[in-house]
Amino acid sequence: MNPYAIAIHGGAGTILRSAMTAEKETAYRKALEDSILAGEAILKRGGHALDAVEAAIRIMEDNPLFNAGKGAVFTHDGKHEMDASLMNGKDLTAGAVAGVSNIKNPVALARAVMDKSEHVFLAGQGAMEFAKKNNIDFAPDDYFYVQMRYEQWQEALKSDTVILDHTEKDHKKFGTVGAVALDVKGNLAAGTSTGGMTNKKHGRVGDTPIIGAGTYANNATCAVSCTGHGEFFIRSVVAYDVSCLMEYKGLSLKEACQKVVQDKLVKIGGEGGLIALDAKGNIELSFNSEGMYRASKVQGNSLYIGIYKD
Ligand code: ASP
Repeated sequence: MNPYAIAIHGGAGTILRSAMTAEKETAYRKALEDSILAGEAILKRGGHALDAVEAAIRIMEDNPLFNAGKGAVFTHDGKHEMDASLMNGKDLTAGAVAGVSNIKNPVALARAVMDKSEHVFLAGQGAMEFAKKNNIDFAPDDYFYVQMRYEQWQEALKSDTVILDHTEKDHKKFGTVGAVALDVKGNLAAGTSTGGMTNKKHGRVGDTPIIGAGTYANNATCAVSCTGHGEFFIRSVVAYDVSCLMEYKGLSLKEACQKVVQDKLVKIGGEGGLIALDAKGNIELSFNSEGMYRASKVQGNSLYIGIYKD
């Protein structure tokens, strides 16, 4: 039996101590703790890494603090279009959805695509029809209405540009959520879920649902979940690049994450970060932005929760 391990993120960006209230920080810490404990509970009883990842993500999708599920940001047209994906490192199976609306837990839909269809990736109307047929929970528009997200959208509309999800003016923040886990049988899994970017164009898809860009898992190397400016993460094939550097160049998890996040992404102006875990239970929580909501837990060790750079 391997020791289990799990790590989660709730988005990266310009998260500054000076812009944070004590209440807000407590709420984020509690939300991260709730999520990681839900995932850990599954790993503790010998459950599969994939189930732990899905459970941890669902908790954050249900929390309006994060840009996923309930707290998904507004598109330019004032709607919510969500993306999510999951990957099983044991057999490289994966499921993903893009541009779905009114789905309470997009990660559950990605899981259904993985388990119950012959496909990997369903988008838009087709994904929603598949959701109906598979009894996935829907929620009305008002469930996704969060005042803070509405204000962000209004702000973005004024400038007539696509503005990244941010809480304070000029403070960029990406509230996407993700999880990576290693179970006691040595299986790795990764998953990511997002509302994308505030004021994004109808039909815009980021890195989150793209296997290899926002999410990747392979028992031979690592499990990775990303958050950041999706266009750059797609162009850099970030999650798979970390795995490739380990597989083909023999880099350690730490070296691979360092290369991708602090060097390759920075060179093209890609802001954000990732969480990664290898089969030995090593964890990397790596970001080139001011902060990243993050937490990790390795069996037998105490819970780590971080927000800022230091
Ligand atoms: N990567 C996501 C996207 O571009 C945004 C985020 O991480 O917050 O859709």
